[in-house]
Amino acid sequence: MNTALHYAVLGAGIAGLSCARALADAGVRVTVLDKSRGPGGRMSTRRGDGWACDHGAQYFTARDPLFQAELARWQAAGVAVRWQPRLAVFDAAGRRTGGGDELRHVGTPRMTAPARLLADGLDLRLQTTVSALQRYDHGWELATAERGLLPEAFDGVLLAVPAPQALPLLQPVSAALAAVAAAARMQACWALMLRFVAPVAVDFDAAFVNHGPLRWIARDTSKPGRGGPETWTLHASAEWSEAHLEESTEQVAVALMAAFCELGGAVPLAWSAHRWRYAITDAAVAGGCAWDAAHGVGLCGDWLHGGRVEGAWLSGHALAQRALAKVGDELRAGLVQA
Ligand code: FAD
Repeated sequence: MNTALHYAVLGAGIAGLSCARALADAGVRVTVLDKSRGPGGRMSTRRGDGWACDHGAQYFTARDPLFQAELARWQAAGVAVRWQPRLAVFDAAGRRTGGGDELRHVGTPRMTAPARLLADGLDLRLQTTVSALQRYDHGWELATAERGLLPEAFDGVLLAVPAPQALPLLQPVSAALAAVAAAARMQACWALMLRFVAPVAVDFDAAFVNHGPLRWIARDTSKPGRGGPETWTLHASAEWSEAHLEESTEQVAVALMAAFCELGGAVPLAWSAHRWRYAITDAAVAGGCAWDAAHGVGLCGDWLHGGRVEGAWLSGHALAQRALAKVGDELRAGLVQA
């Protein structure tokens, strides 16, 4: 199938790229727009002078056969690999218990690697923040913060951005989809990246923490393919992050490092903090995406499919199938050429 249709995908996280890839593979012209400097969204890695640290998604699981097949493709391409950390769990009383036996995977050599594979060959425009959508008879026009109005009109717009960022874009153009976005709840996460001169002397590489400000700690350099000095990622709980959202990075770092030291950690040589304002969600809708066929506008993202990397990929894939059904309808109506 080779159509004259041209879709815009907003967001080059794993959902947007999954959607764009499926459309492009089916012969649809796609342009992906993202406000960041690189693809991957929350599946991301902070890089500094000689160090790197995954500060968003830490690992991913693959339970759905469709995503398992995609993971096999990533593994064959060398961008994903199994991670087997020595895992600990600290319970609500701070006592250490055993870890789980789930199969965990990471992007390699960095968490962004699968996104880069998906983006390969796509028309991806970075540092392009979409600020408004307008629908005319000839298609959708997109206003951007950095480049003003884009020169082309699009036949469809597929939003793959967190719900709070989708909402203001949708409100003027689709009350139905705006209501979907308004119903989602996303919570913040403070992340702290620590650099050490010597390995931290604890006998675990990662831990779920069920008391105090922390929820997760991981020796990032225990992941396959990482090099350089030892780095750790600390994630605060959603409750703690929401309650301390506006605190300075110094205040946050002091609190999280103190909690890390209580678990056996050490004071780092250096640290960096990152505040994820829209980090995690547990919402899901039937079908895993939302699609307004009449106007050619749709929504995908982790927040529509269970809130994880796997859900984000499945959501993007599901939206592409819905949008392709529209292409099929138009083919049958003779509007586009097979
Ligand atoms: P995103 O990755 O958020 O992508 C959205 C993209 O849209 C971004 O690149 C953004 O720049 C762009 N964007 C937003 N607004 C605009 C705009 N107006 N114009 C243009 N571009 C825009 N998942 C797991 O499976 N395992 C984990 O261990 C795990 N841990 C996590 C820890 C943290 C701290 C965080 C933050 C997330 C974690 N997750 C984890 C969740 C996982 O990262 C997400 O589910 C997944 O990456 C979401 O992908 P997405 O494509 O839906 O959204």
